Amino acid sequence: MDAIIPGNPQAKAAIDIACWDILGKKLGAPIYQLLGGPLRTSLDLLWPMGDQEPEKDKKEMKKKIEEGYKTFMFKMGAIKDIDMQIERIATARESFGKKLGKELVIVPDANQAFTKDEAIQLLRGLEPLQSKGPLFVEQPVSKERPQDMISLQRQTSIPLSIDESLVTVKDALHFAQQQGDRRDEANVKVVKNGGISKAMETIGVAKLYGIPILFNSMLETGVAQAAALHLAAVTPTLYPSGHCFMSTLRLKDVTTFASSLIWKEKASGLLMVHLPTGPGLGISLDEEALETYTVDKRVITDDKKA
Ligand SMILES: [Mg+2]
Repeated sequence: MDAIIPGNPQAKAAIDIACWDILGKKLGAPIYQLLGGPLRTSLDLLWPMGDQEPEKDKKEMKKKIEEGYKTFMFKMGAIKDIDMQIERIATARESFGKKLGKELVIVPDANQAFTKDEAIQLLRGLEPLQSKGPLFVEQPVSKERPQDMISLQRQTSIPLSIDESLVTVKDALHFAQQQGDRRDEANVKVVKNGGISKAMETIGVAKLYGIPILFNSMLETGVAQAAALHLAAVTPTLYPSGHCFMSTLRLKDVTTFASSLIWKEKASGLLMVHLPTGPGLGISLDEEALETYTVDKRVITDDKKA
């Protein structure tokens, strides 16, 4: 595909995922088997919090902890009050840290919203909280200035997760090589990264450099989420907790993914997503639901046979 059309990783991801699904179905094997076999069969889930005030966070977190979440991504940047953003994280740790201890993982995610100076202010404010439990900050600055992420890494002890700046395998290599002794997190989204084949290249770089990978999602359906699950199952350097498989819970979906593969484990009390075991992606489509999202149809034919 790259030889014919450069770029467009998201459009190519749809085709790439479909090809892996077809191959798996033809061979009667789940995609994770085609990728080398699973290293795990389930993952615990992350809950994304909107950009809001600390008291609202508290109420929402209480409910979500009861549901089985222990990893929370705090979206921030729409509200440009850095002191309040620091207070949100301090309040969350103070309110639930006693009960969950180091199992409570907090990930402030600014989606590129801050300037470098604002990001430094945020990181300085969060540094004292680092000793209280796992904390890393995702993509505080613009993806257009990847050097800012590297420069920030040199100014803070807080790990910085790379998200929007990580699209191609070249991005992954650049990030890995610039890190020095650090092993900060990388955020993989199967659609953002161009599909299963391309994401596997990034996962290979992460393995080589020992970089932990956090799986995340875009506003996508259970088809892409299932593809990400197969990838997460074979990722050697998977971050040890909380991954985002939320799109299926947020959207009226075109698959049966959320209801059939997500449940709370009795022993750990964690809400887990489980690997689909059927051939290919291992999920089936709700054709009626798919019809409601369809805006256009094209039939692709093989010219040689036509
Ligand atoms: Mg992000």
